[in-house]
Amino acid sequence: MNAPLHLAPYAAHPEKSRGRRYAEVPPTYRSEYQRDRDRIVHSAAFRRLEYKTQVFVNHEGDMFRTRLTHSIEVAQIGRSIARVLSLNEDLTEAISLAHDLGHTPFGHAGQDALNQCMNAFDGFEHNLQSLRVVDKLEERYAEFPGLNLTFETREGILKHCSLRKAAELGDIGQRFINRQQAGLEAQLANLADEIAYNNHDIDDGLRAGLIDMQQLQSVSLFREQYDIVKTAYPDLAERRIVHEVVRRMINRQVVDLVETSQAQLTGGQLADSDAARRLPQPLIGFSPAMHAQNLELKQFLRKNLYQHYRVRRMTSKAARVINGLFEAFMGDPHLLPPESLRNVQAFEQSRGDGGRARAVADYIAGMTDRFAIKEYDRLFNPFQLT
Ligand code: MG
Repeated sequence: MNAPLHLAPYAAHPEKSRGRRYAEVPPTYRSEYQRDRDRIVHSAAFRRLEYKTQVFVNHEGDMFRTRLTHSIEVAQIGRSIARVLSLNEDLTEAISLAHDLGHTPFGHAGQDALNQCMNAFDGFEHNLQSLRVVDKLEERYAEFPGLNLTFETREGILKHCSLRKAAELGDIGQRFINRQQAGLEAQLANLADEIAYNNHDIDDGLRAGLIDMQQLQSVSLFREQYDIVKTAYPDLAERRIVHEVVRRMINRQVVDLVETSQAQLTGGQLADSDAARRLPQPLIGFSPAMHAQNLELKQFLRKNLYQHYRVRRMTSKAARVINGLFEAFMGDPHLLPPESLRNVQAFEQSRGDGGRARAVADYIAGMTDRFAIKEYDRLFNPFQLT
């Protein structure tokens, strides 16, 4: 049995889990959260993360992060911090690996485009979609739809959600209505995500030549570590400087998060994980100074990387692909492969046009970047006959 090293009273204890939507015999040699993690790793949606992107389109180059490597980085950061804070590593890992399962192809651009398409049909939100993937869309088990994950993993996947949606979601939506927190492992996975993407976007942005180290001097988190590295290694090659700086930035943020959270957890006198849920504020977090530095970094990335004209070209192309696919399938579902057509027809029967749109959105959201491009080509390129 892979027993965790030590669990604090406020950690998620698997034997106290609120359980799964469909009751199951407990696993023999794994904890409930290890089982969740394993189901996630074996899911089709997880494998497809390899060909989905966040900022860059997947075929832009082999050097960039994909959602798969991003999720693995999030899990690494999350697990390390969970262990120091005596939180549940397995649960943190499960949430981290699952947090992006509902993402559309083409990252944020894809999500925005699909949300636009779904405007008249209750919208599209990647967080809710991740939950939909693990609750409904994965079809692998004889006894239940989806992966039948524990409440705690599902709670962690649903990072945010509107009050209207929350009311429809039952127990998992309750905390948004009551203005309460998710469990500590969910809070942690959320910040591990932030640490991972802010730092790897710098790395990828530099590699792509969209930003440079000169510009990054305006970001204090970067500048501080850059100065240390430059002083210690004045002749180091640029690529190695970047890696040294980025890894030190991650370390700074992780250390700050550990120390700030540790102090808040010790001061909190928490009897159990629910005590942390009932608080008005999350307990896992950065110090105010690091929070401000993080904000500065994010603003830099928004202005200089995500709005870069070359990124905008990719994202406008991506939006065109998503819009084209949505319109084509909504206009004539018979363009869909048989299995997807059956889903659309079943949904349409029970929920009308909204049902049709939801099933089309599920199909599109499940695509990888390259599949979406191929599918677009097959539908719209008159010279492509297969
Ligand atoms: Mg993420």
